[in-house]
Amino acid sequence: MRRLFFKYIVVLIAFLPFTTFAKGKKISKIVVDAGHGGKDFGAHGTFSNEKDVTLACALKLGKILKDSIKNLDVIYTRTVDEYPSLVKRHDIANEAQADLFIAIHANSTMDRVTRQVVGYKTIKKKKKSVKQPIYKIVRHHETSMMGVETYVIGLKRLGQQAGEVTDEFSHDSTVSEGVLNENDPQTAIIISQYTSAFFQRSVRLGTKIQEQFAAQKRPDLGVKQKSLEVLAGSAMPGVLVEVGFINNPEEEAYLNSEKGQTEIAMAIYRGILAYKNEVEK
Ligand SMILES: [Zn+2]
Repeated sequence: MRRLFFKYIVVLIAFLPFTTFAKGKKISKIVVDAGHGGKDFGAHGTFSNEKDVTLACALKLGKILKDSIKNLDVIYTRTVDEYPSLVKRHDIANEAQADLFIAIHANSTMDRVTRQVVGYKTIKKKKKSVKQPIYKIVRHHETSMMGVETYVIGLKRLGQQAGEVTDEFSHDSTVSEGVLNENDPQTAIIISQYTSAFFQRSVRLGTKIQEQFAAQKRPDLGVKQKSLEVLAGSAMPGVLVEVGFINNPEEEAYLNSEKGQTEIAMAIYRGILAYKNEVEK
């Protein structure tokens, strides 16, 4: 899988001089990436799948962007229920030489496992009768967690073990198998250049988007980092917005509603607009 990363690295270097030093650069192309799709359902709630929620929100966001910003190109990684690989998604963005990469996902928590006593049995222990409970393992898919969080392209924190990052794309073997060696001097230089080029911008964009969700009274879970490998394929600032918890019944209903999807698209749009106005100054 190293070759994959060489490809990424070459792309990164190719774009660095244009992105790092271009001040007042116009944002004219935005990639909108609906997470998952096709065979990849993503997370699920009680009645819906992440791949459908992300597509609905992405299409709404794209339409609002196109209708509201003159001469803006919106590039979708998918517009139907299909699965472009992560590499394919980034290829689309890089080939278009887009200025921003916006990935839309829905959040989910791990199932909670509890034991329930469903009866008792009597067993003989050292000639004595002992009553023992019989347990049933119960999985709880629902959560009370709610709110929005935005991930930016980030470095793995020092000392972090592989796999510690909860990785949306871990099922994508083309990505999860690759390991960036940050101890290699050349890789370290590339990472630091990459970081200075896009990381700050991504954080600014993510912050603006989160502010808009907060203004809508959605719980603000903040701007966070995802490992470099996950989002580094695109040579442009990028964010991954987790628009709500699909395994929270209240949020699942919201994520599937016309009102919810429109509000989500509007929050991301307003965040992009605020960022755009700032960088184009
Ligand atoms: Zn996802």
